[in-house]
Amino acid sequence: MRDHAILSASGAHRWLECTPSARLEEEIDERASIYAEEGTFMHELAELNLSLYLERISKQEFNKKLQQMRESEFHTEDIENAIQAYVDLVIQRINEAGPNALILLEEQVDFSPWVPEGFGTSDVLIISNNTIEVIDLKGGRGVRVEAQDNPQMKLYALGAINGFGILYDIEKIRMTIIQPRIDNFSTDEITVEELLEWGEQVVKPKAEMAFKGEGEYKASDHCRFCKVKATCRARADENMKLIYLDFRPPPLLTDDEIVDIILKIDELKKWASDVEDYAFNKAVNEGKKWTGLKLVEGRRSRRYSNEEEVAKRLLDAGYEEDKIFSKSLLNLTKLEKEIGKKEFEKILGSLIETPPGKLRLVPESDKRPELKLSAEIDFKEE
Ligand code: SF4
Repeated sequence: MRDHAILSASGAHRWLECTPSARLEEEIDERASIYAEEGTFMHELAELNLSLYLERISKQEFNKKLQQMRESEFHTEDIENAIQAYVDLVIQRINEAGPNALILLEEQVDFSPWVPEGFGTSDVLIISNNTIEVIDLKGGRGVRVEAQDNPQMKLYALGAINGFGILYDIEKIRMTIIQPRIDNFSTDEITVEELLEWGEQVVKPKAEMAFKGEGEYKASDHCRFCKVKATCRARADENMKLIYLDFRPPPLLTDDEIVDIILKIDELKKWASDVEDYAFNKAVNEGKKWTGLKLVEGRRSRRYSNEEEVAKRLLDAGYEEDKIFSKSLLNLTKLEKEIGKKEFEKILGSLIETPPGKLRLVPESDKRPELKLSAEIDFKEE
């Protein structure tokens, strides 16, 4: 089990922007989520595979541990394949670094010269010639994480420089994020000079404020994984601004007001559902009674208590199979998984089509290229 610092590297994108958030989060009960436990499992599986490749464990030790891990509730074929894809990419990087490279797995790095009590665990460090490469495995598939200008990676890099900068003549830092379940692989590079400047100019002053719980609360995308996201007043105030928009005459909304609403609506929906989940969980799990609210049971719908028995009774009663069973083709993803990518392509390649995606109006900052509507593209919904 990993220890966590108050100012963690993974939370840096948040406490660098909203400095008092780290101390506020401390007040919340820490209960490992199922996603965090799955993430730990994935990291352990990756470390096991890389340890075998680096001959740090014997084949017998590997097989024994793998057998145990395959019995875990978190083990799935999907996860094992994803970790294999990650391990293959890391091995490629290790080989590129040459035979004299120093490879460290699950290395604790200390970035406390810039962040009070700051430390973290780097999945893989490759130190060779004049370069340190920091590699991080991301097990999730919900949010795409990029290496570019990523503060978590830069803090690990500061920790690596702190630990190994004296022993090696490092000039360059490479930071790589591998998110195998969504085929995301991204790398960023900076010089040691740029990294140290960021550490001194940006991180140090912000970290000192964050450690003391000082500064301004600032709500933005970084609230998404904040432990107080449901009850934070700053986030509520930010979202309530939209609700209290002072709509003066004319009676119809202006174009600017419409754009303003669309730009804020995603965050407003997320915030509203965070507050709803929070209140619901308190009511169900802690028996809290919210004045003005009550728990009710949703609409009931019938279901079979035992499908096998239902089928048996119908067949015994003389009903034909085609009257009581329905047959349908597996969906594309399941079928591809069932028969394998190559076979799928060979047999069905010419029968697979990709209709245009559903049109969406998104903020200009979205990474997707803008679409020019033309008469040839048929975007009518299926
Ligand atoms: S929810 Fe957002 S604004 Fe509130 S403390 Fe957390 S990061 Fe800061």
